[in-house]
Amino acid sequence: MTCPACEGTGWKAHERDGVRRVERCDCWREQVTARLFADARIPRRYQHCDFTNFRDYSESLTRARTRAAKLADAFPAVDRGLFLEGPPGVGKTHLAVAVLRHVVAATSARALFYDTRDLLRVIRSTYDPVVRTTEIEVLRPVMQADLLVLDDLGAEKTTEWVEETLNLIVNTRYNERRVTLFTSNYPDIPDETDTNSLLCRIGFRMRSRLHEMCDFLELRGADFRFAPANATDKELLSLAEMAREKGSRGVGAVRPMPARAQLREPHADLKWPGGRAGT
Ligand SMILES: [Zn+2]
Repeated sequence: MTCPACEGTGWKAHERDGVRRVERCDCWREQVTARLFADARIPRRYQHCDFTNFRDYSESLTRARTRAAKLADAFPAVDRGLFLEGPPGVGKTHLAVAVLRHVVAATSARALFYDTRDLLRVIRSTYDPVVRTTEIEVLRPVMQADLLVLDDLGAEKTTEWVEETLNLIVNTRYNERRVTLFTSNYPDIPDETDTNSLLCRIGFRMRSRLHEMCDFLELRGADFRFAPANATDKELLSLAEMAREKGSRGVGAVRPMPARAQLREPHADLKWPGGRAGT
């Protein structure tokens, strides 16, 4: 259907103070935004997520939502990203997508969403172990996106290659002052013997870089995937209480994973093997 305001030209005329000017029609902006959304790779199950349908029924959820909305409003005048941490199903990805969608709609930024494991799979598919490089076409959009969401950090089994690859991406974005949002199921506890800690999952170097470039927000609440669709805030709160009693530190749904051997050693960071790909 042809736009009646501009008859499909994308430009419309208007008059101000007796001077006739042309400006971009709203339909043109809508098309640009629609293309940016399509390019952002938001998974279908999260495409509806925004701030208005985020349920903040606990104190930590309200705090996270407020902080995330502040970033979304201020973008691109933002110098720190966000690290959203909490148990599965609590709304971390919802909040990250809400920021992404707000930013794209308000500023026409180029934004990109990636599940961390999917990203590594894509990179790995073009990785040449002999020359230790990956096709730049894969990495460039990830490094250059104005806003990047890396979902589920720490879920990938850590290898030297995974660590080098993620460090390269994160360090490049940090150096170029691009904003990145991370979500993770792994709590940021300063315990290098706990195999469920973020530290064990991603390593010292990555964790300290994340603290330099992100504000850490803890989300505590019920697992939405197991909550009835019409659950009240009170019911969600009591579900959250149950989950907290069941699991240690409120991460009941996170299964222990084997830790990397070198992380059990004290001062393991001194002999950290990663980094060659990034320097
Ligand atoms: Zn139009």
